[in-house]
Amino acid sequence: MHIRNSAKSAVTVLGLGPMGRSLAGAFLDAGVRTTVWNRTPGKDHELVARGAVSASSAEEAVRASGTTVICVVDYDAVDSVLRHGAVTEGLRGRTVVNLSADTPVRARRTAGWAAAHGIRYLDGAIMTPTTTIGTPAAVFLHSGPAELYQEHKPVLDALGGTHTHLGEEIGRAAAYDIALLDTFWTAMAGYAHALAVARAEGVGARELAPFAQGIAAILPGIFEQVAEDVEKGSFPGEGNPLTSAVSSMAHVVQTSEAHGIEAGVMRAAEGTARRSVGLGHGADGFSRTVEILERGTASSTPPLRG
Ligand code: NDP
Repeated sequence: MHIRNSAKSAVTVLGLGPMGRSLAGAFLDAGVRTTVWNRTPGKDHELVARGAVSASSAEEAVRASGTTVICVVDYDAVDSVLRHGAVTEGLRGRTVVNLSADTPVRARRTAGWAAAHGIRYLDGAIMTPTTTIGTPAAVFLHSGPAELYQEHKPVLDALGGTHTHLGEEIGRAAAYDIALLDTFWTAMAGYAHALAVARAEGVGARELAPFAQGIAAILPGIFEQVAEDVEKGSFPGEGNPLTSAVSSMAHVVQTSEAHGIEAGVMRAAEGTARRSVGLGHGADGFSRTVEILERGTASSTPPLRG
């Protein structure tokens, strides 16, 4: 049984944390009939005042719409909401769009569970903060059956922003999410560390910030170049060989630790660069470290499968 007609006109949102509330609010603003539910009651007052229907149970919520968007902290939370007899049964023939964040393995497992229970399933990731939801700045990534995605595109468009279908392999949205979060959190960890070291040297955070932005501004071109090198399998280092990068990273570690500030993130980066040099790649550029990292994971970790 496919409950198709209500896809454009009605949606259920499970999970009313900051992101779930923003999603529900955007649906309401777009005129979509929106039913909401959250594990802990009392988080839907404002949404109800704006026209949302408050469900008294997750089962009631999923039966109210053809499409259920779930956005909770992780897939353990998704499981604890959806994997109950009555809720699972209520979802049969309906569509779940899972916008919670977790790993590709968990996305594949959840898709397997959905298929086994006759539930149509799309996985997704939200790449921008709550304040962007319902605006052109929001960025959503999706994976799963193309036909199912196209069918639900109208309701997803109510969330604003750009929606990209990354392919049918259900783990792809989570894979992009993980890689992009890797980029984000290591950059943020680097910036937090830089501010601590700068302050230890008597440089104010606000004094450093504009120069740090200058560093961020050169990254887009470097990201493109590194990606090209990695795909070509050539790692030119004429302008900035790894031997020079290792020396520069060591200065950061020394200065940091001299102030009693732990330098774990930089030590890890320096370690990989130093290993690359030790393996005879000192004249190569930083992009060689991607290939060195891949050698390590290939030899020590089995491939991830759902
Ligand atoms: P949280 O990640 O803190 O998630 C809060 C929601 O998860 C609440 O609805 C909470 O319910 C629910 N929850 C937690 N544990 C359980 C459980 N065991 N069973 C049922 N429900 C549970 O806040 P957000 O709303 O901000 O994030 C939701 C998702 O969106 C996350 O995966 C996050 O990574 C992602 N995201 C968030 C962004 C943001 O800017 N906030 C940006 C991009 C993605 P309760 O109220 O009962 O505790």
